[in-house]
Amino acid sequence: MFIDKVSVGIQAGTGGNGAVSFRHEKYVDRGGPDGGDGGDGGDVILAASRNQNTLANFRFQKSLKAADGQNGDKRRKHGKSGTDLIVPVPVGTVVTDDHGGLLADLQTDGQQAVGAYGGKGGYGNAHFVSSVRQAPKVAERGEPGESFNAILELKMIADVGLVGLPNAGKSTLLSIISNARPEIADYPFTTLIPNLGVVDIDSETSLLFADIPGLIEGASEGKGLGDDFLRHVERTKILVHLIDVYNDNLTDSYKTIMKELKSYKTDLTDRPQVVVLNKIEGLDDEIVNDRLGEIRPLITAGTPLMAISAKSNQGIKKLLYEIKNLVNEERARVLAETPKDAEVPVYKIKPDQQPWNIIKRDNGYLIRGRKIERFATRTDFGNEEGVRRLRDIMKKMGIMREIERQGIELGDVLEFSGQGSIKY
Ligand code: GDP
Ligand code: MG
Repeated sequence: MFIDKVSVGIQAGTGGNGAVSFRHEKYVDRGGPDGGDGGDGGDVILAASRNQNTLANFRFQKSLKAADGQNGDKRRKHGKSGTDLIVPVPVGTVVTDDHGGLLADLQTDGQQAVGAYGGKGGYGNAHFVSSVRQAPKVAERGEPGESFNAILELKMIADVGLVGLPNAGKSTLLSIISNARPEIADYPFTTLIPNLGVVDIDSETSLLFADIPGLIEGASEGKGLGDDFLRHVERTKILVHLIDVYNDNLTDSYKTIMKELKSYKTDLTDRPQVVVLNKIEGLDDEIVNDRLGEIRPLITAGTPLMAISAKSNQGIKKLLYEIKNLVNEERARVLAETPKDAEVPVYKIKPDQQPWNIIKRDNGYLIRGRKIERFATRTDFGNEEGVRRLRDIMKKMGIMREIERQGIELGDVLEFSGQGSIKY
């Protein structure tokens, strides 16, 4: 079974706690605070890799968790940051959250997306010395890492698309060259969904092939399997155009497919092709040459044309060699067109900072916003100094001014979603 859509839990590492400690335990006021900061939690990073071909791994690995940061320690010792978890996914993986929001579209080898940010480590008390606070007994808690359910979907982009009339032998060819095992039958439309197969051409080249469902007249207008055909073929680099050598009229057969390729939203006739006559086993060379001669005038100069037998494994090596060359040429062409300084984009999924907002409640205000919530999670609400710091931060961010403007009264509750609350 080919799995192309999975749901996984993504959990970034929690930040380590800051430490409260003093150089001289007994003489706190003289020693000076030396509690170190907690280390940051690790990020979960999704990395597109050409070595991954399916999402099948995620059937068993349902949650992806990065390491937590370690707590700070005395003598200003920083906690070690949690190691990022780098998760290889196939090129073509689209990541959405479980509300359907697009998080990342990983379309090139090596492209990375931060799936979830690790929590910041909390500051140790060494951080909080000021002229008025010589011996702060406050440290921050580490912030939790982001976590959510992500949907990974492999939008199957193949390097090579197999096209041809029904029964040309596309499924058969794919089955012998790849690890895919498509159904093979003697009637049209055996292949109802595009089959993908990874073909190891040589030690350094693996290509993803798509066996495109058999074309019928009018498929490009949405009849039959047209739309799926379009979606998959649109993104392939090259096409292998397979023709049954026994077709009564090779010219018509070739032209039917070309007409289809032309009438799709994107004209696909420009895509480089290898044109291949199939089922030649048992035919004399002379006949095969004649039939190749019927096709040759139709194709543009430089288009490879050859004859094979998928069934008896004839000419397959040469075909794969031609395919590899053509794909490499195509890649080189695309690379040459890409501006030199164009970097592989790294997605930042969640904006690091969102403006805050306040929501009036019966007994006070709910305070929201990524930055302030972040501070709130790192605050120990049972500690007076911690709470004072939170107030200071709200003042700095202009939140206090706004709630005062709205007429907050003494004793009103300021709540931080899920983290805790303080009294005004
Ligand atoms: P598709 O519709 O293009 O996917 O075609 P299939 O791969 O399902 O093949 C259609 C029929 O042609 C099947 O009966 C295959 O066994 C047969 N076939 C495929 N390749 C060859 C070949 O090289 N030689 C012969 N004689 N038959 C073949
Ligand atoms: Mg088929």
